[in-house]
Amino acid sequence: MRIGLDFDNTIVCYDPLFHRLALEAGLIPALLPVNKLAVRDHLRRLDKEELWTEMQGAVYGARMAEADMFPGVLDCLRWAKAAGHSLCIISHKTRHPFRGPRYDLHQAARGWVERRLLDQGLPLIPADQLFFELTKEEKLRRIAACGCDIFVDDLPEILLAAGFPEHTRRLLFDPEGHHAAVDGVTTIASWDALRRHLAMPCQPTL
Ligand SMILES: [Mg+2]
Repeated sequence: MRIGLDFDNTIVCYDPLFHRLALEAGLIPALLPVNKLAVRDHLRRLDKEELWTEMQGAVYGARMAEADMFPGVLDCLRWAKAAGHSLCIISHKTRHPFRGPRYDLHQAARGWVERRLLDQGLPLIPADQLFFELTKEEKLRRIAACGCDIFVDDLPEILLAAGFPEHTRRLLFDPEGHHAAVDGVTTIASWDALRRHLAMPCQPTL
C-alpha cells in the first residue's frame, strides 16, 4: 500500500517548541498549557499577533531542529516499512516565513526528516519521497501523482478538497478531538491508532 503523510501537525508536534520560545521571550506565564493554540491565543489577548507570526518563522525555520514528533511516529513508520508499505511525505508551506528572517522552511523541514525519521541510522522515508509544495493545489496534485492509497492529514480541508483524489482513502489525524465526524473520513487520534488501522486485515486493496 502507498501511504501518504502530511508533515506539520501530523508528524511534527510543535506545541512544546512554541511554548518554549514564548517562555524564553518572556511572553507567557510558565503555567500556560503546552499547546500552540494556547500560546497564540495568549499573544492575541495581549494584542501581539505580530509576535506570533514571527515566532512561527522561528519554529518552522531556525529552531525547527528542536521540534518534537508525536508519540508513536517512529514505531508506526518502522512497522509500515517492515510490512512492505511505501511511504511518502506530502506537505505544503511557503518557502520563507511571512515575517522575520528569510529561513528556507522547506530545507528546514527536509533536514528535520533526514535527522529524525531514522531507523538504525537509515532513513525511514527516502529523500526522493519527500515533497514540500508551495500551495494546497500543488499538494493535492502531488497526492494524486504519487498514487497514494491512503493519506493522513490533520486538516479536514485538505481531505475534503475538491481536488483530493477520488481513490485515496482519507484519514484525519485529530489527536485533540477538534473535529466532528465526517462521512468518508476516518478519524484517528494517535499514531498507535494509525498503526492498528493500517494493520487491520480488512484493509481493502486499492
Ligand atoms: Mg498539517
